[in-house]
Amino acid sequence: MKAMLLTGITDLRENKSPLELVDIPTPIPNEGEILIRISVCGVCHTELDEIEGRTPPPRFPSILGHQVVGTVSQLGSKADRFKIGDRVGVAWIYSSCGECRYCIEGNDNLCQEFKATGRDNDGGYAEYMTVPENFAYQIPDTFTDSEAAPLLCAGAIGYRSLRLTGLKDGQNLGLTGFGASGHLVIKMAKYMFPNSNVYVFARSGKEREFSKELGAVWAGDTEDSTPQKLDAIIDTTPVWKPVVEALKNLNTQGRLIINAIRKEEVDKSYLLNLDYPRDLWMEKEIKSVANVSTRDVIEFLELASRIPIRAEIEEYALEDANKALIDLKQGKIRGAKVLVIK
Ligand SMILES: [Zn+2]
Ligand SMILES: [Zn+2]
Repeated sequence: MKAMLLTGITDLRENKSPLELVDIPTPIPNEGEILIRISVCGVCHTELDEIEGRTPPPRFPSILGHQVVGTVSQLGSKADRFKIGDRVGVAWIYSSCGECRYCIEGNDNLCQEFKATGRDNDGGYAEYMTVPENFAYQIPDTFTDSEAAPLLCAGAIGYRSLRLTGLKDGQNLGLTGFGASGHLVIKMAKYMFPNSNVYVFARSGKEREFSKELGAVWAGDTEDSTPQKLDAIIDTTPVWKPVVEALKNLNTQGRLIINAIRKEEVDKSYLLNLDYPRDLWMEKEIKSVANVSTRDVIEFLELASRIPIRAEIEEYALEDANKALIDLKQGKIRGAKVLVIK
C-alpha cells in the first residue's frame, strides 16, 4: 500500500518534506480488529507536534493521521461489530485498557494505557490501517467522507472542551484562537446554548470577520478586553499569550479550558505577565482537555448530524501531505485540511 512515512523528528522551519511516500505491505487485522480501506484522513495541528517532537511517536518509522474515514475491507478473528463495506471512522483514541477507573467511568481518554491513532499505532496517512473494532465509529449518512474527517478530531475534542466548560445556557462563552476547532465549536455552542453569546479572539482580521458570520457577537484581537465578562473561554492556540490574555476577561468563577496537547515554548515568558488579582483570584479556574473519549466521538457525531454541522474543507492528495502540513504550520487555513486517498 501507499503511505506517507515519518522517519524521525525534524524541524519544519527547515525541513519542508518531513514525510516520505513509500510502498509498504498492507497491515493484517489481529483478533478483534478491522482493516480499513482509507478514503480520507484529516490533517491536524497535533501532527506538527508529533513531527517536531513535542509529542513524538514512540518508534519510527510511523504513519501519522487520526481523523480517518474509509470502509471496512477485512475482519480480524472475533471482530463482528461491522460488515465488509461498512463506512467507518477512527479518531485520536486508538485503544485503552477497558478496565481501569477512567475507562469504566467513560473517560477512556484519561486511561494510563491510552494509545493514540497515528502516534502509538499507525494512522491514516496511508491506503489502509487496522484498528480495534471498538474504536471505530459508524459515520452518519449526512456527511461525505471529507466532511466527516475533521469532525473526528477538531469536532469531537471541541465537543469535549465545551462539555468541560460547564457552561449553562445564557452564560457568555469566549473562544481564543479560531481554527478548525473554533469553527465547529461556535456552531455546536449556538445549538446547545441558544441564549449564550459567543466572543472570539483571533489574530487575523479575516478570522474575526468569519467568526461574526458564524454568529459571534464580538470579535477582537488576542489582547483585547471584551465588553462583558465571560463565564468560560476555550483556548485552542499553541502558545501562551492567549492564555494570559484570556484570564483577564473571565468572570468570577469563570473557567478557562486549554484545548492543546502541547504548548510551544516560543512565548513562555509571557506567563510572567500573569497578574494574580486580575487574572486568577475570585475562584477562576484553568483546566486542560486531554484526548477524546469514545463517548465524546459517538455523542458528537450524533449531535453533528442533528444540527447539522458541516466543516469547511480544503482537500489535498495523499502525496501532497507535506504541503498540507507546511500550509498548516504557516497558518494558511481556509478550512479543515483533509488528504484524499485515491
Ligand atoms: Zn487532531
Ligand atoms: Zn483504562
